[in-house]
Parts: sequence; C-alpha cells; structure tokens
Amino acid sequence: MSWEPMSAIRYPLTMPSPPFAFARLDVPLAPLTRYGVGGPARVVLFPRNRDEARAAFAWMNEQAGPRLVLGGGSNVLIDSAGFPGVVLCTTELKSLEALGGHRYHVGAGVALGRLVREVMLPNNYAGVGALTGIPGSVGGAIYMNAGTVNGATCELMESVDVLDAPGVETIAMTPDLYAYRGQCFCSPGAVILGGTFAFEVAGEDQSAVYTHYLQRRAEKQPRGRCCGSVFKNPEGDHAGRLIEACGLKGLRRGGARISNLHANFIINEDNARSGDILWLMEHAKAAVRARFGIELQEEVRIIRGG
Ligand SMILES: Cc1cc2nc3c(=O)[nH]c(=O)nc-3n(C[C@H](O)[C@H](O)[C@H](O)COP(=O)(O)OP(=O)(O)OC[C@H]3O[C@@H](n4cnc5c(N)ncnc54)[C@H](O)[C@@H]3O)c2cc1C
Repeated sequence: MSWEPMSAIRYPLTMPSPPFAFARLDVPLAPLTRYGVGGPARVVLFPRNRDEARAAFAWMNEQAGPRLVLGGGSNVLIDSAGFPGVVLCTTELKSLEALGGHRYHVGAGVALGRLVREVMLPNNYAGVGALTGIPGSVGGAIYMNAGTVNGATCELMESVDVLDAPGVETIAMTPDLYAYRGQCFCSPGAVILGGTFAFEVAGEDQSAVYTHYLQRRAEKQPRGRCCGSVFKNPEGDHAGRLIEACGLKGLRRGGARISNLHANFIINEDNARSGDILWLMEHAKAAVRARFGIELQEEVRIIRGG
C-alpha cells in the first residue's frame, strides 16, 4: 500500500463552490478524526437536517473526484496528503425523538455516548454493555455495527434510514442484514440519516453495567489518539494476542506506535503521518501471516487521497 505525496493531490479544477451555508472549504480533516491524522479536503458539507442532507448528497454526487461520508471520525485513517473530493459529515444531524413504547428515532449525528447516557441509562434499557465507551456517532455505529462481546448496535434497532441515489429508504432491520462489524443495507457512499431504536427494559441495573465497562476500558485500553481496534478479531482468536505473540508491542514508526498495553491499538503518539500507521499495520499483518497463517482484516477504514 502506498500513499500519494501531497504534491500529487489535485483538486478537480471543475469543482464549483457549494451553494450551501453549511459548507466549509479547505478543511483540515485531522481535527475531525480520533487519530488526529488527515490532510485537507476541498469541501466538507455539514448538513443540519434531512433536507440539507438530501441537497448536499445530490450536489456531492454531481462533482468529479472521490466522495466520503464521515461521522465522528473514530474509525477512519485519512491520508495525510488530504482528500481530493467532497466530504459529507453527518455530525450535525442531531435529532432525537421519543416515539413512545421504548422506541426512539435518532439522527446519525447524535453521539453514541449521548444515546447511552440520555436515553438508555435513565430508562434502564438493555444493551448498555454493548455500547458503553464506544466513541463516534450513531450513524457510524450503525454503519460499522459497532459493539462488543455483549452485542452490537444493529441488534437494538427496528429500522434504518438510508439516503442513496433514488432517495431515502427506511429499511426494516433484520438479523440477516448485519454481522460482526459490518452490514449490507448501506453501500459505501450512501448515507445513513438515522434510525429507530426499539429498546427493552433490562432486568439488571444498567448503571452498574455502565460503570463496570467504563472501568474495564480504562484498565485495558490505551489512552491517546487512536481508532480503537485496528484489526477485526479472527474467528476464535484475538488480533491483539496474535500481534503481541509476534513480539510487536511497542514497535514504533515515525510518530506512531503499536501500544504496549494492547497490541491491536496503534497510537498516534507524536504527529504521526498516515504512512507511519499504515506501515505498522502492514508490518503486523505480515508478521501474523508468516507466524500463524492468518490474514488479519482491517476494522479501521482507510481513506486514501488519490
Ligand atoms: C478509543 C476507541 C475505542 C473504540 N472501541 C470500539 C468498540 O469497543 N467497538 C467497536 O465496534 N468500535 C470501537 N471503536 C471504533 C469506532 O468508535 C466505531 O467504529 C464507531 O462506531 C465509528 O463511528 P464514527 O461515527 O466515528 O464513524 P467514522 O469513523 O466517521 O466512520 C467509520 C465508517 O463509517 C462510515 N460512516 C460513518 N457515518 C456514516 C453515515 N451516517 N452513513 C454512512 N456511512 C457512515 C464512514 O464512511 C466510515 O467508512 C473504538 C474507537 C476508539 C477511538
């Protein structure tokens, strides 16, 4: 894998200025990500409601160059050279509506942590163990089917609203539509606008569950700029265990390091470039392949500049 140098990036000359008050031009992407890595994008659109999202999506699809849908930026590694296209960022889609009967319609831009703290905990809804401590937006969590050994986002949902070329479709959530850290109802480039969660009141105290898992994360997960787990766990094993067994804990490249605490975390310690992190990823993959014959799959989404 290689990254284009900054000088090779050319914004499409034909891209006009977007006709939106919610557009920003020449935006550094690093601050929009948990890694703190990523060069500038020519245009980033921050729609604040569904009508603006539709208009933004239509305009974005008329432009030359690549397109990126970004949520809270907690699971992306963006090229330090920048992104030569249009980014649609969903973080301003912050609607949250109680529908009654333990059902809630939640906009893609609502922080997952807010859903846990403001909806699930006060009502003692089941599922807190699955979502506690996961950063990012509800839209990103739905797209990734984010979760833990205790469950995952899509399991708690009744339906999801997906904006694609034909318009917005509300899709009933069924188990065949999602799997471990993935789903098949939203293709890359389409936008999850939000969805309806249908909760059940839990038998056990969810605030105790919340405290327990926050504490566990504090003990077992490194602090610092990162994307959480870099690789998916291969069936029946843990990516962190495999990388650690290859002796790679603490390995440093440029400003990035494989965490000494948890080998499936790569930390941006000191102004890391995307190439530093990518190099460590490739190194870990090659070592695990050579030693165990296992091909690690990236969980982090790699956003290339070219
Ligand atoms: C410290 C830390 C701990 C973490 N722990 C966990 C964990 O325990 N479990 C877990 O599953 N993950 C974990 N993660 C990873 C990450 O938080 C989740 O994947 C999260 O759900 C991503 O949401 P986001 O809004 O940040 O998405 P982004 O990082 O912005 O995007 C991730 C992907 O989703 C797409 N996307 C985002 N929003 C939308 C949308 N509205 N419509 C269409 N596509 C969209 C993007 O194009 C991209 O491909 C962790 C990350 C960190 C930094």
